[in-house]
Amino acid sequence: MNLFEAIGVGTIINAKGPATRLSGGIMRDEVAQAMSEASQHCVEIAELQAAASRIIAETTGAEAGYVASGASACLLLATAACMTGLDPGRMGRLPDAKGMNDEVIMVRSQRNFYDHAVRTAGARIVEVGLPDRYAGAGVRDAEAWEIDDAITERTAAVFYVADARARPPLSEVVKVAHARGVPVIVDAAAQLPPQANLKRFISEGADLVAFSGGKALGGPQASGFLCGKRDLIMAAALQHLDHDVFWDLWTPPEFLIDKQHLKGLPQHGIGRSCKAGKEEIMGLLAALRAFTFEGDVIRHARWLKSAEEVANGCLGIVGIEVHIHDAENIEGVPLVVLSLDKAKNDATFVISALQNGNPSIHVDPCQREQNKILINPMCLRDGDPMFIAGAIRKSLT
Ligand SMILES: *Cc1c(COP(=O)(O)O)cnc(C)c1O
Repeated sequence: MNLFEAIGVGTIINAKGPATRLSGGIMRDEVAQAMSEASQHCVEIAELQAAASRIIAETTGAEAGYVASGASACLLLATAACMTGLDPGRMGRLPDAKGMNDEVIMVRSQRNFYDHAVRTAGARIVEVGLPDRYAGAGVRDAEAWEIDDAITERTAAVFYVADARARPPLSEVVKVAHARGVPVIVDAAAQLPPQANLKRFISEGADLVAFSGGKALGGPQASGFLCGKRDLIMAAALQHLDHDVFWDLWTPPEFLIDKQHLKGLPQHGIGRSCKAGKEEIMGLLAALRAFTFEGDVIRHARWLKSAEEVANGCLGIVGIEVHIHDAENIEGVPLVVLSLDKAKNDATFVISALQNGNPSIHVDPCQREQNKILINPMCLRDGDPMFIAGAIRKSLT
């Protein structure tokens, strides 16, 4: 009996990928060990964050970095940093943004429910553009000049959600924003792989970029990191760290927090609810090291092997077509695609049968209306692929 079963919680087979609702993925031994070892010592958390900042900076090409409880937490911190700068009074007042720049510009087609994090900081989202390409009624989306048009003296930041389909291109957004002195925050939570994206948005000029630690990176589920400009990372850190200290006894690490620039010590800030412990920070750093050491080619081959095991196990099931999406694209994640048009049961039936089995199998249902089932190999353990194939066969015979 494992420790979950001991409290009556069944473990599942996660064929959906590292989703929060399915508890993320399977941690590498070295990441789990880093967390376990970290738990046996005490450190000054600001000093640890400063060390993490240097490592994240080296890995991403940014000036500095910071670890919090997820990409979403990092977006809250990033927004707060852009609203307050280094003013401790403003930090104390958030989410009440009276008197501060509180407008965050966002392309309408990029709106999503993770932007709750931006609004939580106290900002108002100003939407730009009408993406009529999505309605099939037109071909365009927001353009850089429309972002420029929306900038006012109350603009705190432009918020950009990175994705292959995101428009306009980040470099154009950065150009118009910087011309008006406005920082650009990028949500890159799920933009790994490819590994090159760790550097890409920074090199395209973004001021702050948020990545999830618990997705493809393979870090703790409750971790994420920011990378970007040093003064903004400092403003984020100041709104996240515990400040139950006295000014004259306060000796923060200079790389992270330069006391000279502060008129006083802020109180606990709006980011206090986004705590990351030493275990998460050390786990995230171990995951970042393992991720960059492995590289896209070996990682893709590892995932492809599991995907092929599932696909081969499904061969010969009457009425289904099997293929692997992104089997050749080492910058993507190979996904098994099962098409059920000629099968005995439809996708929803099979998804539900898998979910109700023992152990429960969770696949990706997002294409069920096209009668397709997607299987993501990222979170599979040894033996899972054959078990999944067997369960699919059973649900279709
Ligand atoms: C997953 C995701 C997030 C949240 O990441 P967490 O690390 O779980 O907080 C934010 N934005 C996007 C686009 C995501 O896909």
